[in-house]
Amino acid sequence: MSSGPDASREAAVVDGVPKQLYIGGTWRDAGGGGTLDVDDPSTGDVLCAVADGTVADGDAALAAAHAAFPDWRDTAPRERGEVLRRAFELMTERTDDLALLMTLEMGKPLEESRGEIAYAAAFLRWYAEEAVRIDGRFTTSENGKGRILTMRRPVGPCVFITPWNFPMAMGTRKVGPAIAAGCTMVVKPAQQTPLSMLALAAILEEAGLPGGVCNVVTTHSTAEVMAPLIADPRARKLSFTGSTPIGKKLIEQSAEQVLRVSMELGGNAPFLVFEDADLDAAIEGALMAKMRNIGEACTSANRFLVHEAVADDFARRLAHELGSMKVGRGTEEGVRVGPLIDEAAVDKVTELVGDAVDRGAQVLTGGERVGDRGHFYAPTVLAGVDPDARVNHEEIFGPVAPITTFSSDDEAIERANDTEYGLVAYAYTRDLARAFKVMEGLDTGMIGLNQGLVSNAGAPFGGVKQSGFGREGGPEGLGEYLETRYVAMNVP
Ligand code: NAP
Repeated sequence: MSSGPDASREAAVVDGVPKQLYIGGTWRDAGGGGTLDVDDPSTGDVLCAVADGTVADGDAALAAAHAAFPDWRDTAPRERGEVLRRAFELMTERTDDLALLMTLEMGKPLEESRGEIAYAAAFLRWYAEEAVRIDGRFTTSENGKGRILTMRRPVGPCVFITPWNFPMAMGTRKVGPAIAAGCTMVVKPAQQTPLSMLALAAILEEAGLPGGVCNVVTTHSTAEVMAPLIADPRARKLSFTGSTPIGKKLIEQSAEQVLRVSMELGGNAPFLVFEDADLDAAIEGALMAKMRNIGEACTSANRFLVHEAVADDFARRLAHELGSMKVGRGTEEGVRVGPLIDEAAVDKVTELVGDAVDRGAQVLTGGERVGDRGHFYAPTVLAGVDPDARVNHEEIFGPVAPITTFSSDDEAIERANDTEYGLVAYAYTRDLARAFKVMEGLDTGMIGLNQGLVSNAGAPFGGVKQSGFGREGGPEGLGEYLETRYVAMNVP
């Protein structure tokens, strides 16, 4: 923790969060009393310890979700919505503390943490409103005799696994619609950032969510605790946000009981700048798409594909912007770039930049780690990057912008699609026909057209190809927690 004048506030915010497991409406220690440390990535110091849940704790959490399901399913939709609305209000009132907590455990600058709290809370509000609009349909069958009735029923107890990069929003994106739909759940946050999820559980409890509806298990024995839950017939749905390799393992595990699955996986977003683009807007969008969350976002612009006529200008301006960003602890005034999550992340970024440089890339700014304490890497722009360089094919998850050039629309689209990922793409053009060609030609679940940010609680977030399946946000996000039941009615 810092030693500045704010140190006592930081300690108070960390102290204010429960550190135990939340199971069946009760906060309790892990079986065996084990704990796991949570570190501050800007210093490497231990912030606190939380319960280290065991296999038996995971089982108890699923048992609680299973037991709570019938009552929650039958709770009036308005009541479910009102719990979410109260949780939205509590989260919004406590934005400053929750943002500080997130910055301490994850590293992003405070301003960005505030942004994430607003984004996370928006899912609670959106689904509070949606809880009372779950409908079905009624129609006369073709022969005019029978009737067709469809109703939408909650899927049942769910298992949620979330990553460290958006510790609050990746939780509410699942928890919000599940609560609205009448589902119950076991949530396992990433071991590096469990505090935001524990704070969310405390807010939901205060908002009046009955015990057992949302259970939280923190653990260091992730695979051992989660595999039995995925294989357990009491669970009816798995929703996972994280890396593609782990997602693939979980899809395999889910096959055992044909579990309904949503997968929000990795990305390799192309950022296309055509020769007719508004370059001011493209630079502004690039800063958002690349530097949000220190580049540690699945939606992060991973590859900049810029038309050769504007590439030099774009690269020079982007390097100027990134080169002037202040790097430091996220709690410090004016810091725009916090630490990466851990040393392995710094090593990976160093390796990818080294590979690009070995293949002839030019470093316009950055290109090295910063300081010897914490996990900082300088905002970096690489020009003249070989299309085959690893940065163009692997998720960078850091503040590095590799630029390659193209000379035709077809080449741009073909190169943009040359990846196994398909989460999001960004495109800057003022030409309507070109915009449609791009929107229709890109193999991604989302496109930011003249916009560097796509996240929105009312919109369906998700990918195609190895970026996963299923959508979070909007009515589609609620649909992930509902089954359609069809009743064939004989009307004599
Ligand atoms: P990760 O290593 O896949 O971990 C994600 C979560 O899975 C963590 O809670 C982790 O637990 C858990 N996990 C790891 N191994 C597991 C196993 N064998 N069984 C069950 N759970 C397991 O990913 P990450 O590094 O935290 O997050 C970054 C990745 O998430 C990137 O690839 C990013 O693109 C992706 N992401 C995607 C989206 C999207 O919406 N598409 C959003 C955000 C992030 P531990 O904490 O115990 O390791």
